[in-house]
Amino acid sequence: MRSLLALVKKNKILISDGAWGTQLHQLGLKGGECPELWNITHRKEVLTVAKGYVDAGADMILTNSFGASPAKLSHWNLNDRAFEINEAAANISREAAGDECLVLGSIGPTGVILMMGKASKEDLYNSFSIQAEALAKGGADAICVETMADIEEATLAIKAAKEKTDCEIICTFTFEKISSGAYKTMMGVSPEGMVSAVKDAGADIIGTNCGNGIEGMIDIVRAIRKIDKETPVLVHANAGKPVFRNGVTTFPETPDVMAGKAPALIEAGANIIGGCCGTTPDHIRAMIAAVKK
Ligand SMILES: [Zn+2]
Repeated sequence: MRSLLALVKKNKILISDGAWGTQLHQLGLKGGECPELWNITHRKEVLTVAKGYVDAGADMILTNSFGASPAKLSHWNLNDRAFEINEAAANISREAAGDECLVLGSIGPTGVILMMGKASKEDLYNSFSIQAEALAKGGADAICVETMADIEEATLAIKAAKEKTDCEIICTFTFEKISSGAYKTMMGVSPEGMVSAVKDAGADIIGTNCGNGIEGMIDIVRAIRKIDKETPVLVHANAGKPVFRNGVTTFPETPDVMAGKAPALIEAGANIIGGCCGTTPDHIRAMIAAVKK
């Protein structure tokens, strides 16, 4: 297994990949369809997205498994196929990545709010366990628990991945700027509040993803670095806040805009940078060029 931590320790700035969902929509995925079922039904298209980022020069790529926890797949009555779907996701990315590029198995939120009592902690732990095990079996080098808002859910996902696999664990939260100028998740968690909780749960790499664009990510990384100078930080930034017009979603930040801010993001303390919603292989190419300079 390849070690992301070892690569970061070599004092290298690493580049991750960009969006999957928006790329799959361009290849024909319809709104309301289960993106992760495409690992089985549209393997070629999913492989095309993965290869797009490997060809762009990314050091690591994710897997098309963001919503593939059994808890989330139950929306499509696909919960019984979770293992198969996650294993296929990791397999596809492994095939695209080859030996040089790392594969990060993506685990997103379940959509279940624990506070509302719709599921028990044990249910969610078991759901994340199935997903993590399948991703590792399919060839993931690390597990990336991402777009988290709730400490309790993130902790369960990290623990499941840590206990059921040998993979290194990344955990990133999604923050919004609130009126005071501070950053909080939907569930009221601050970047500082995230750090100790996810590290205690066993995360090896921490950070932030999605959000409103790369500028905000610089502030969030600064907030993390104020209280933690050591833990590697990963940032997957959106290409700005999505704009909905005439039924079409666009993202305002071009590859040049994002690449222009990459040095400041690294200066703030990020070790691994890449994109989230709305970013493309061109964004990743531009970031690589900016970092090389
Ligand atoms: Zn996103």
